[in-house]
Amino acid sequence: MSFQGHAMDSTLSHLILRNCEIAYAITDDALTVVEVGGEGDILCNDHEVCLGQSLPDLVPELVGLEDVLADILGGDLPRFELAWANRETADGQTIYLTLVELPYRDRTGQIAGILHVAQDVTEMGMVDRQLAQSRNELRLLQDQLTRQNLELAAANAELRRLDELKSAFVSVAAHELRTPLAPIRGYVEVLLDEEVGSLTGDQREYLQIVERSTRRLLTLTSNLLDVTRIEAGQVELVLQSTDLHALVEAVAAEYGPQLEGRAQPLTLRIPSDLPPALCDETRAAQIVGNLLSNASKYTPRGGRIAVTVALAEEDGFLEVSVADNGVGIPANDQPRLFDRFFRAQTALLTGASGAGLGLHITRSLIELHGGRIWFESELDKGSTFHVTFPVADESALTAIEPARSAET
Ligand code: ADP
Repeated sequence: MSFQGHAMDSTLSHLILRNCEIAYAITDDALTVVEVGGEGDILCNDHEVCLGQSLPDLVPELVGLEDVLADILGGDLPRFELAWANRETADGQTIYLTLVELPYRDRTGQIAGILHVAQDVTEMGMVDRQLAQSRNELRLLQDQLTRQNLELAAANAELRRLDELKSAFVSVAAHELRTPLAPIRGYVEVLLDEEVGSLTGDQREYLQIVERSTRRLLTLTSNLLDVTRIEAGQVELVLQSTDLHALVEAVAAEYGPQLEGRAQPLTLRIPSDLPPALCDETRAAQIVGNLLSNASKYTPRGGRIAVTVALAEEDGFLEVSVADNGVGIPANDQPRLFDRFFRAQTALLTGASGAGLGLHITRSLIELHGGRIWFESELDKGSTFHVTFPVADESALTAIEPARSAET
């Protein structure tokens, strides 16, 4: 079936023109409007009035475009389009039109005038303008974000600078405080050993107070130095195969006087045939020493302390546990226990000295070894702290397995 030769039904063409909100005007070759049709309001309110007018008078956007219209009439331009022309409607609304100029041909095919088509694209125009507006807003936000990012980067750089300054200050201050402490401690020891004369009871007692305070200051300064080194990533471990049995016994001996002074018996449970651990001996002694010192500080006189070394549940690790039956740690303080400068309520009540840096440092050091630290604690019942060190020689593990629960 062919539609060739069929003219479009006029009802149908009216329907299309109205639904698509299209109006048209046809001119003669002198640009005088000779026919108007389609959706009325778009072109002019009264079609009769439009007839006989010049097209540029009817469509002000075409004023100045006479050359273009001449080209269309001359057959040199097949189509000309103007987008988003706007009009005020009778009720004060703005509508947007797309205007198209086409050659109008008579029956013989000759160009007899211009076909002007106007389509109301307000809805499309709205969407387009909203889109453009959103795009502008987005660009504005992006600019704002870029500016804020730059400000944030500058603020961060300043914070880093201040942080480095603070670390440098703490480091210098700790060093300077430490230097005179060494001779003070040395001379106090000489005096306490009565190398330069005998002491009266009072003199000995006062010197012991000086010695304890000096030791506290030394611990504080070395903790401050450790924190700054850890934060700067400057702690380097000298890892070597280490006998934990010997190491724990040495630490226990070092803390012996403190434990005796507080009448706290210490039990060591260490199998004799454990494989060696891979650790930095000085740092491992610091870790165990810190846990032992805490166990003593936070356990009343006469309390009990036990250190156990065993193969850890986790393959390839040894576990050192330090248990006490001291004051314990309140449940709500437990999550913050490893934070810098944090001290539990119970610590404050005991009156034990400390700056809340020991566990923070201990955790950093143990993690540098590849191990873990954790604890269980119950108020007024006591606490057990566990740390793990990697085994130095994994091939020794199978041979040692049965000795897991042996005691020394
Ligand atoms: P410090 O002992 O200098 O306060 P630490 O970082 O070593 O700092 O310990 C942080 C806090 O953890 C202590 O102040 C104390 O409240 C709590 N704590 C640590 N070990 C024990 C323990 N064995 N028993 C009870 N509380 C402990």
